[in-house]
Amino acid sequence: AALDDSRRDMVERRARLLGPGYKLFYDEPVHFVRAQGVHLYDADGKEYLDVYNNVPSVGHCHPRVVEAVSRQLGVLNTHTRYLHDSILQYSEQLLATLPAEIGHVMYTCTGSEASDLAMRITRHVTGGTGFIVTANAYHGHTIAVSQASPSMGEHVPLGVHTRVVPAPDAYRTEGDLGAVFAGQVEAAIADLRRHGIRFAGFIADSLFSSDGILPGPAGFLKPVAEVVRKHGGLYIADEVQPGFARTGDAMWGFQRHGVTPDLVTMGKPMGNGIPIGGVAARPELLEDFGRNTRYFNTFGGSPVCIAAAQAVLDVIRDEKLQENSRIVGRAMLDGIQAMAEKHAAIGDVRGAGLFVGVDFVKDRATREPDAALGLRVVNRLREKRVLISASGKEGNVLKIRPPLPFSLADNDRFLGLLAETLAELA
Ligand code: PMP
Repeated sequence: AALDDSRRDMVERRARLLGPGYKLFYDEPVHFVRAQGVHLYDADGKEYLDVYNNVPSVGHCHPRVVEAVSRQLGVLNTHTRYLHDSILQYSEQLLATLPAEIGHVMYTCTGSEASDLAMRITRHVTGGTGFIVTANAYHGHTIAVSQASPSMGEHVPLGVHTRVVPAPDAYRTEGDLGAVFAGQVEAAIADLRRHGIRFAGFIADSLFSSDGILPGPAGFLKPVAEVVRKHGGLYIADEVQPGFARTGDAMWGFQRHGVTPDLVTMGKPMGNGIPIGGVAARPELLEDFGRNTRYFNTFGGSPVCIAAAQAVLDVIRDEKLQENSRIVGRAMLDGIQAMAEKHAAIGDVRGAGLFVGVDFVKDRATREPDAALGLRVVNRLREKRVLISASGKEGNVLKIRPPLPFSLADNDRFLGLLAETLAELA
């Protein structure tokens, strides 16, 4: 579709001012000017349904977040080296959502910083440098973290201390997924040892978002955690995507598996768009690290960021968003599974709460990914004013991850438009 003059001009200015690093979504880019709840509005005032954005997790421009941030911005905003009550109150409430063994939390501004800090702590505690990640993992953009993020692509070489294991894809794996995956991680630990590298830790997004949304059967991460500990490593749960009630059954993604991580990283939805992330840890891991190394984050955990995070926790509780995620996520899974009966291109439908993946295949027998279809569905839905994306190494997995207040009525509207799209593209 042709772009109007205004958007064409913006695309050109972006290229001139921001350079080629700034990618746009869609064949026909969208220009938004405001948003509310699960809707965004373009410059012509047209409404779009948001089935993609997990950062405005309690809904775009939620009035309680807006109010809390605005109020705090006019009162005080400093760093964490003065006494302030709100960081303490928030930390108490945040830690209460985590297993009892996890007793400290340190604040960052981004998920990348959280991954970086978790890796620093892990290296300090174990004396090791070797990290194990999954095949298309993304944990952030700093040098250290990108060297443990294979999805950055071949131009960002993995660190010599990084080992990659296949993504735990239940749809394409024979046998018991937990046992297979734990075996692959154990082999990677052995490979590190063979190369004279001491094992430090295993880092995994508990929902394997960039690996193609792989919730797997509940409990399958337990054997991996045992293998990691047996070899003296730490288990780092990257909860940047699955955290804060996304999975419906629990506040944190790892809780589906009955594991207790050593370190938990968080970010994205934590402040509903205000930059705040963090690392929660077993206190003993921070004992020497906290005393004998330096960690200061100028903006991390400031009163304004904490005000946003506190409002997010309050809204999740008061609006029962975890329960909504569970109920609407279930209805979405069922609805798409029913659609799969009519559409052979849908190879697998999987999810946890309001994070659902639809795995498009060229052939159900071979399960060969159909990346082209994923992209066509994404662009066609954009024409119907539904925002969605695709994930996985091949980009063949439709990534469905709306703000948590997504209602059953929103879901019906979405499923209708998805069915229409699949019928048109068949
Ligand atoms: N971990 C995961 C699983 C992520 O998805 C992301 C962001 N896509 C990050 C870490 C990095 O977060 P940020 O972009 O806030 O640095």
